[in-house]
Formats: sequence, structure tokens, C-alpha cells
Amino acid sequence: MSYAREKEEIMADVFTHFNYLHTIPEIGMKEFKTSAYVADVLKQLGYEVETQVGGATGVVAVCDSGKPGPVLGLRADMDALGTKDGGAAHLCGHDGHMAMLLAAAEEIMEEKLVRKGKLKLLFQPAEETTEGALSMLKGGVIDDIEILIGMHGRPIQECRVGEAAPALYYSAATHVRIDITGVQSHGARPYLGTSALDAACLIVQSANALRFNSNVVCNMKATQIHADAGVANAVPGTATITFDLRSRDNDVMELMIQKLRGAAENAAASIGAKAGFTILHQTPASIITPEITEIIGEVITSELGEKACIPPIVTAGGEDFFWYPKMKPELKTGFIALGEDAEPGLHDPAMHFNHDALPYGVKIHKGLVKKFLG
Ligand SMILES: [Zn+2]
Ligand SMILES: [Zn+2]
Repeated sequence: MSYAREKEEIMADVFTHFNYLHTIPEIGMKEFKTSAYVADVLKQLGYEVETQVGGATGVVAVCDSGKPGPVLGLRADMDALGTKDGGAAHLCGHDGHMAMLLAAAEEIMEEKLVRKGKLKLLFQPAEETTEGALSMLKGGVIDDIEILIGMHGRPIQECRVGEAAPALYYSAATHVRIDITGVQSHGARPYLGTSALDAACLIVQSANALRFNSNVVCNMKATQIHADAGVANAVPGTATITFDLRSRDNDVMELMIQKLRGAAENAAASIGAKAGFTILHQTPASIITPEITEIIGEVITSELGEKACIPPIVTAGGEDFFWYPKMKPELKTGFIALGEDAEPGLHDPAMHFNHDALPYGVKIHKGLVKKFLG
């Protein structure tokens, strides 16, 4: 389906975009149909559009007023989650994020809301795999942006439809794999080998004995362990462990990684094994600018009503949006939690949300443009 054809038949709104995007879920870095649709819509609306940002599937649309003023970026993520049957599904609601930003993009153009500075709309790939923001950074699209704002729909327990929080504090998340090398031996002669399985157990125990600043919410735990020589009468010479690390603070996360590496290497060395250390995925904790949070709060109140703006939300989840401020510290950032009544929870195979939330997200995007570029 091309947007150009559809536009003649039906006036596109947030539901039209959502209904279509929902039917073409694609996993991170493979958002080919999705990014083509997004780029098509934005070109039709008169934006200057860049595709394949950073050599990936990212799309950026620019509306330049030609007058001095700030450069504002609004970001939506595009990827779906892989499913057990090898397919994909929008279980994190990124289809809604794209639909809201596209519908806002249309109204922003029609109502000529960019009166000063420049607006950049970022449609980012691969949030779930944490590669997407880094690919956009590689493409240089952040270089001239001064204020960057993201938004995510929330579960019913956090924020209700018609409400939004001006800040959403995510945790830093890191996934680590440890590859242990010992020497395989016969079950009858274990003294001739070095058990990678025993080394793996020692590493888990050492990691569990590490202590961190108790004023910072953080935790570290082993999530996978594999050691198998393929038979019951041999001692495995190789093993792997994965760890999941969470921290509310980026400095504590750095310390956790450093200490886990030391504990793993030393625990393995204590019985003559070696431990290799690989960081699989990493997302920084929220880096949010207080003055932007304050302005977002004013926008939520003016667009959604006096009681709509609820206090900031804290989540143990991760969000790769924070690579932007982590890699460009002078960037001012904000992150909005939008009430969507998502149930039973994000990433659940049965995840669904109340679509009445979508027009509220459109209003907030427009409100931000009026506030910063009006
Ligand atoms: Zn997700
Ligand atoms: Zn998400």
C-alpha cells in the first residue's frame, strides 16, 4: 500500500497510520516496509527526507523555518519484537509511536507550526536490540539537534489514558556473556582436566558476593548457564554464562561491569580456567534535562488538561534513546510517558492498548513544536 494512493481515497489520521503499520511488524534493522511507508508519508507532506540513515533503516524528516531558533528533534522508534514462530509483532507499541509522530507531522505542516528554528523528526530502527540510536548517531543526524524528546506508551499500572508524565526514568541495562575455557577430561580422571562447569559456578558465586552502593537501585544476576560435554561421563572444558545487570545510575553500572569482569577472571583463574568477557547489549540509564521536563509538563497541562500531568515515572526497563545524550552530553533531552492502558504488559504476546491514547500523543507532539519553535 502506498500512502500516495491512500491519500486520494482517505484523509490520513493517526488511526489510518496505526492500522497499516500494525499489519507490517518488522524486527530491528529489518524495518524495510515500515521505513518506506514512513518516508513516503513524510515526503508527501513536504518534508525534506533522508532515508537509510547511518547505513541502516532510519528515516529523518526536516522542516526548516529558515529563521534563527532552536533545532528540536522528536523521536519515534520503528521496530517490532520477534515472535516464537519466527515472525514479528508490535508488542511494545512502536507502531503507535510512529503513527502519532506521522499524524503530528501532517498537522504541523498544515498549520505551519514551525515558525522559527528547525524541526527534525527521527524515525529510529532497532530500539529493542539497542543498536538503533547508535546507528542514527553514526548517520550524524543528531549533530545539529539541541533538544531531543522521546515518548513511550505505558502499561495500565503506571499511567492511564488521558494522562502523561513529563519524565520517564529508565535504568541502565547491560547484558554480558562470559566464555570459560578449561580442559575437558574423562569422568574417571577429572584431575587431568580443568572443569569449566566448576569455574562457571565459582563465577556466579563471586558475582553474587559483589556489593554496590546501597543508595542506588541496582542488581546483577546470572540469567543463562551452559556447560555440557555432550555425555554424562566427561567433565566439560567450555562453558558460557550470561548476566543481566541493571542500575539506576550510569557510574554504578560502569563499576558493576568492571567488578564483574574482575570477579569472573579471578574466579576462573583460581582453578586454572580462563574467562573471556563480552558485552552483548548495553543501554544507559535516563539522562534527562530538568528544564526540558518542566517545559514538557507545561505542554501536557495545556494540551491534555490541568489534571493530565502526573509525576515522573521510574521503571527498571531500558531504553536505547539515552545513547543520544550519553554520546552527545551537551544535548538537552526529555522523555515522555504516555498513558495507553497497555495490558497485560509491554512485550507480552497478548499486549494490547487503548487506541484512544493515540490522539493525545499527537497533541503533545504538536504542543512541543508550538512551545519550542512557535
Ligand atoms: Zn520494548
Ligand atoms: Zn518500546
